[in-house]
Amino acid sequence: MGDQSFNAFKMAQAQFDAIAEKLGLDHATRDLLRNPDKEFHFNIPIKMDDGTYKVFRGFRCQHNDARGPSKGGIRFHPQETIDTVRALSMWMTWKTAVVDIPLGGGKGGVICDPHNLSLNEQEKICRGWVRQVYKNIGPLQDVPAPDVMTTAQHMIWMMDEYEVLAGAKYPGVITGKPVGIGGSLGRVEATGYGVIFTLREALKEEDVDIKNTSASFQGFGNVAQNAMKLYHLLGGHIIAVSSWNNSEQKAYTIRKEDGIDINKLLMFTNKFGEIDIEEAKSHAYEVLDADAWMKQDVDILIPAALENQINAKTVGLISDKVKFIVEGANGPTTPEADEVLKEKGVLVIPDFLANAGGVTCSYFEQVQTNINYYWTKEEVLEKLDETTTSAYHKISTLARKKKLYMRDAAYLISIQSVAEACKLRGWV
Ligand code: GLU
Repeated sequence: MGDQSFNAFKMAQAQFDAIAEKLGLDHATRDLLRNPDKEFHFNIPIKMDDGTYKVFRGFRCQHNDARGPSKGGIRFHPQETIDTVRALSMWMTWKTAVVDIPLGGGKGGVICDPHNLSLNEQEKICRGWVRQVYKNIGPLQDVPAPDVMTTAQHMIWMMDEYEVLAGAKYPGVITGKPVGIGGSLGRVEATGYGVIFTLREALKEEDVDIKNTSASFQGFGNVAQNAMKLYHLLGGHIIAVSSWNNSEQKAYTIRKEDGIDINKLLMFTNKFGEIDIEEAKSHAYEVLDADAWMKQDVDILIPAALENQINAKTVGLISDKVKFIVEGANGPTTPEADEVLKEKGVLVIPDFLANAGGVTCSYFEQVQTNINYYWTKEEVLEKLDETTTSAYHKISTLARKKKLYMRDAAYLISIQSVAEACKLRGWV
């Protein structure tokens, strides 16, 4: 989003085409998988609080459901585009396949900025979104979840609207719901924790003690905050973090050489994960420019904001000290930057493996909904650790055996599994 020359869908297709070639996939399978199965584009007319009317544009893409119902979040973002949603829906298909949960891939979005909308207006957008796709979503068809700038509150409004239309209770229509109304404990932590579970395994394999490492993060939303908490708990040192500043419409990096205390930082961070820069200065943080997070002399970089952050223009900013990049965001690294990182021998844990914790926990939420019995947080996080760790090792083993870049190994496994499901069903 933002950069007009960048197209996430073209990038997702290029990544797919390269692996389809390696796997020798037939043409019908390639045609089937390089585009979403179904797309919905629609208007959401809203009466605003001031009495005026405004029409928002909404989307839902269902990329593939050969392995199970489509699954994926809904983003609220002023720069949302249909191509971004298409790409993200495709990445969801690979994500659910890589962790081997019985789900497909989907994604949704609304072009809107929650910063400028009251809660009442946001509720109307949520309900309007559901009304437009009501017949095409559902526990057995397509199950949305939170994503950029959407939360458990948005999910429960959406579930409620669906249930009003259906005239019955359907808690399985959506995941990421509040705990106590069908949500799962651990869902808030899941994506960030999953990021660190994969990092922990990579460090073990490379014989690096996490306590001797330092990291810099991009983004301070839910994923980054929880990843930072677990990384710190395991003994890692957080040196820098960048965060969006909405009033100035730009990002800043804040840095503290002797380590950032996330709990203190949260005291002057708003609900969108934006750090108050003046407060940061008064607490002796250095305030640097937006790109500074990736220029740090650290061992680990964790991009956990948006797509297209490490690209041909910026990859050169990364210090030679960096040995690990763990992608908390979806699509943060472009194929051009991948080539440079491959050359430098940086171990990149790809997005659809590194950030699969969210959808894995969504799957656990569905299981708990289906049995109508809820697990403790410890049980959920333990299961999450097991699933993530096993997916990590499956990919890492293939990458080592065949001397592959980890993204390519993850793509080989997931595309093959989805292609096989399509074949078994007799689609291609
Ligand atoms: N939005 C998250 C993702 O990109 C979670 C999706 C889900 O739980 O369905 O993976």
